[in-house]
Amino acid sequence: MPETLIERALRTATDTKAIEAGRGVVSRTGDVFARLFPGRTAIIVADENHWRVAGEQVVASLTAAGVPQAEPYIFPGTPTLYAGYNNIETLRDAIADIDAVVVAVSSGTLNDIAKRAVSELDRPYMCVGTAASMDGYASFGASITKDGFKQTLSCPAPAAVVADLDIMAGAPQRLTATGFGDLIEKVPAGGDWIIADELGIERIDPAVWDLVQGPLRDALSDPQGCKDGNPDALSGLAEGLIMSGLAMQAFASSRPASGGGHHFSHLWEMEHYGLDWDPPLSHGFKVGLGTVSVAALYEVVLAKDIPAMIDIDAAVAAWPSWEETEAKLRAALTPDLHEAALAQTKGKYIDADALRARLELTVERWPSISSRLRDQLLPAKVLQEKLDTVGAITHPDQIGMDRDRFRDTYHRARWIRTRYVLTDLLTEANIIDPLVDELFAPGGYWAERF
Ligand SMILES: [Zn+2]
Repeated sequence: MPETLIERALRTATDTKAIEAGRGVVSRTGDVFARLFPGRTAIIVADENHWRVAGEQVVASLTAAGVPQAEPYIFPGTPTLYAGYNNIETLRDAIADIDAVVVAVSSGTLNDIAKRAVSELDRPYMCVGTAASMDGYASFGASITKDGFKQTLSCPAPAAVVADLDIMAGAPQRLTATGFGDLIEKVPAGGDWIIADELGIERIDPAVWDLVQGPLRDALSDPQGCKDGNPDALSGLAEGLIMSGLAMQAFASSRPASGGGHHFSHLWEMEHYGLDWDPPLSHGFKVGLGTVSVAALYEVVLAKDIPAMIDIDAAVAAWPSWEETEAKLRAALTPDLHEAALAQTKGKYIDADALRARLELTVERWPSISSRLRDQLLPAKVLQEKLDTVGAITHPDQIGMDRDRFRDTYHRARWIRTRYVLTDLLTEANIIDPLVDELFAPGGYWAERF
C-alpha cells in the first residue's frame, strides 16, 4: 500500500507517533494505546456530550486490548466547556494523583484543556477526535484564555490521534462547518507567509508548506459533502486539519496554518465577542469570516500598482515612534488587552531606518510577491461560497456585528499577534486606509454585501 500523506508527515512529527484516520477506527484506540503505553492505565477525559458520542466505544476498544482503566473524568455538558485556564487547573488537580495516561475524547476545547493539563504533569496523552472541527488535534500548544488574553500555551502534541470518520459524520453540522472555516484560512494565510518570506521576516520551509498547502485545495473541494456528513468529503477535511496540526508540530509554530484571518478571530475572541452565546461563537466561524475579509483585501491589493502607491519618504516620515505606537494601541484596545498586545506588537515593531529598508525591499520584490500571491490565493467570492455551502459564517450581520466594529478589525487585528501579515505590510507602507476604504466604498466587496 502506498504511504499516505499522513504517514509521510508523521515521520517529521516530534511528538506524535501514531494517527488512525478512517471509518470505524475508534475500535483501534485500545491497540494504539497498548502499543504506545505498554502496561499503563488509561483514563478517559471527556465532557458529557462527547462521552455520549464515543465514550463507550473507546472503553470497549481499550477493554478489548486489555488496557487497565481508571474511572473516567467527565466535565459537565452544559454550559459549553470554555478553554479557560481554570479548567486546566481543575483537570490537572483531579488527575494528579492518578497514575494513568489520558485519552481525551473531544471535538476541540477539551482537547486543549487536556493537552495542557497533562503537560503540566509531565505526562503524554492521546486523543480521540469526535468532529472535523479544528486543526488542533495533532498540533502542539493549547489555545487557552489566561488572564483575559487568548494565547497559545506551550505543551507537546498528543502521542496519538484517532479520527473516526463515522463518528465525525455524526457530529453536529456546525462543528464540521467550524472545522472548514479553520482550514480555509490556510489559503490567505499562505499569502501572508509568502509576504513574510519575500521580505526576509519569516522564511518558508518548503516541506512544512507542502504539509498544509499540498492537500488543501482537495480538502476544501466538497463543502456540500462535508455538510451532508459524507465520509469521503469528511475524509479530506479531517486529513487537511490533521496535516495542518502536523505542520505546526514540525515547524514548532502555528505560522504554517494561521495568518491574518486568524488575527481577526483572535481579536474578537479576546474581546469576548459571542463567547456568552449558547453555543459560543466558534473559533472556526470567526476564522471563516476573517478569511473572507482578508481575501477581499488581497484582491484590492493585487488590483493595484502597489510600488506606485508607496511613497517611501512619506511613509518613513509618518512612521510612529514606539511611544506613539504604544499610545495608538492603548487607544485602540480595551485596557485588559494592553499588556499582552504591547508585547506582541513590540515583537514586530521596527524603527524608521529598518522601515525604509523594508519598503525598498517591498518595491523591489513586488513583482515576485504579487505573482506568488496570485498563484496562492482564491477569490473572496469563491471562499465565501464554500463557507456558505458548508454552513459557516461569511458576513458580520450573521453574528450581529455592526459595520464599524467589523471595519475597524482590519486596522486593529494586527496588534494582537507578532506574526507578520498583509495588514502589517500595508500599515508600514502607509497605504492601508485607502485600500480598506475601497472595500466599503460603492462597488467594493463589503459595500455590495452590507
Ligand atoms: Zn485555527
